[in-house]
Amino acid sequence: MYIEQENILKHISARPFHIISAAADELGVEAYVIGGYVRDIFLNRVSKDIDVVAVGSGIELAKAVAGKLGKGTNLSVFKNFGTAQVKCGELELEFVGARKESYSHDSRKPVVEDGTLEDDQNRRDFTINALALCLNKDRYGELVDPFGGLADMEELTIRTPLDPDITFSDDPLRMMRAVRFASQLGFFIAPDTFDAIIRNRERINIISKERIVDELNKIVLSPKPSVGFELLDKCGLLPLIFPELCALKGAETKEGIGHKDNFAHTLMVLDRLSKTTGNLWLRWSAIFHDIGKPATKRFDARLGWTFHNHNFVGEKMIPGIFRKMKLPMNEKMKYVQKMVSLHMRPIALADDEVTDSAVRRLLFDAGDDIEDLMKLCEADITSKNPEKVKRFLDNFRLVREKLVAIEEKDRVRNFQPPVSGEEIMKTFGLPPSQPVGALKEAIKNAILDGVIPNEYEAAHAFMLQKAEKMGLQAADK
Ligand code: ATP
Repeated sequence: MYIEQENILKHISARPFHIISAAADELGVEAYVIGGYVRDIFLNRVSKDIDVVAVGSGIELAKAVAGKLGKGTNLSVFKNFGTAQVKCGELELEFVGARKESYSHDSRKPVVEDGTLEDDQNRRDFTINALALCLNKDRYGELVDPFGGLADMEELTIRTPLDPDITFSDDPLRMMRAVRFASQLGFFIAPDTFDAIIRNRERINIISKERIVDELNKIVLSPKPSVGFELLDKCGLLPLIFPELCALKGAETKEGIGHKDNFAHTLMVLDRLSKTTGNLWLRWSAIFHDIGKPATKRFDARLGWTFHNHNFVGEKMIPGIFRKMKLPMNEKMKYVQKMVSLHMRPIALADDEVTDSAVRRLLFDAGDDIEDLMKLCEADITSKNPEKVKRFLDNFRLVREKLVAIEEKDRVRNFQPPVSGEEIMKTFGLPPSQPVGALKEAIKNAILDGVIPNEYEAAHAFMLQKAEKMGLQAADK
């Protein structure tokens, strides 16, 4: 890959780089920008995390740099790790001394000793992440690329600098990183590197779930996430880290009737949705939308394959999976559950007649997430039958138009019942009890079904009528 020297220099022209240069020369140490920042120069990506390696003490270099940068600079030293961070405006500079690492079999924590630049490059995960740019004055901007990282970048290749079996066995998180970079950058994993992932896959078990899910999130956020999931599947990591997704694989045929492969379908939905949203949790909703299908799959001689209530079963499965994978057990999870449970609603609507009442109920249940839900459902149309696709998409357009019209008219999106439970209790002299709930529910349904408008007067009158039928008497009578 050819990039003019001038262009490289442009990326290390900011004042802090020249200050590092001067400080390193004064201390008599070699200093290099290394890793992601250098890789991203060649890939034309913006990165603001800058890793600097000193052949000597990284902490001493960081202190000297912070001193020279002066006001507005923040220095943090992590003595135990031998690293230091300098924050200066937008820039975050991480300093470390060049190091050599040796690993024992049962841990990804290496024994670390001081080393040369070469030792430091040897411990990097991939050739494209091992590039270093010298900052010392007489070699400013010189690229040190011992493993052909630049050539690999040109060929869009992820390859380990050393024997991949050693690289992956030392730190199995690197297997996830290989897949993540392939998915994020649209690169290929070199065949010998990929084969080593297959051989070492079981070692993923020594990696914490938090680190695995960090990489998974980056895969989910990549431009075409199916690339990452397909690689995870092919190398055998997926069943180890996300067996519930693997369970969607396969298409069975009975009595000449087949069903679609829900794994392939899910990935297609995820890619389609990723074209319209960068929302991580909406993308996770696509991954989970059919997760309940294997558990609900039945063959019915009359209906063929059915997956009744797979949306509700999926919704119930989510907390257990989130807990196990260390995905967040908070409102993000609730949002994914909501998307999964509601994902059949617009389709069912579009399949039949689009009544006002059904649209009103959908709007009520989805609230402010209605737009996200519609996006998910549109991405969910993966049929190969163009007429079917057209019919669904046309009906969705109708659903969307009705959503706008009904929201304008009835404002049920963040619906608060116009008559409160409090008022019902006061009117009929009731304690908190079943009839109060029943009345509230009846008012809500009357509004959602369009029997009465979403207004106080109408709701109050409806309440009195309904109460009379229930044999309730107003307290002041
Ligand atoms: P991104 O910022 O997109 O996550 P990055 O490569 O900059 O990508 P970091 O995790 O910050 O990611 O890593 C910085 C550099 O440290 C990498 O480029 C690589 O050289 C090295 N590195 C990070 N993690 C590992 C690892 N597990 N094994 C070996 N080298 C690693």
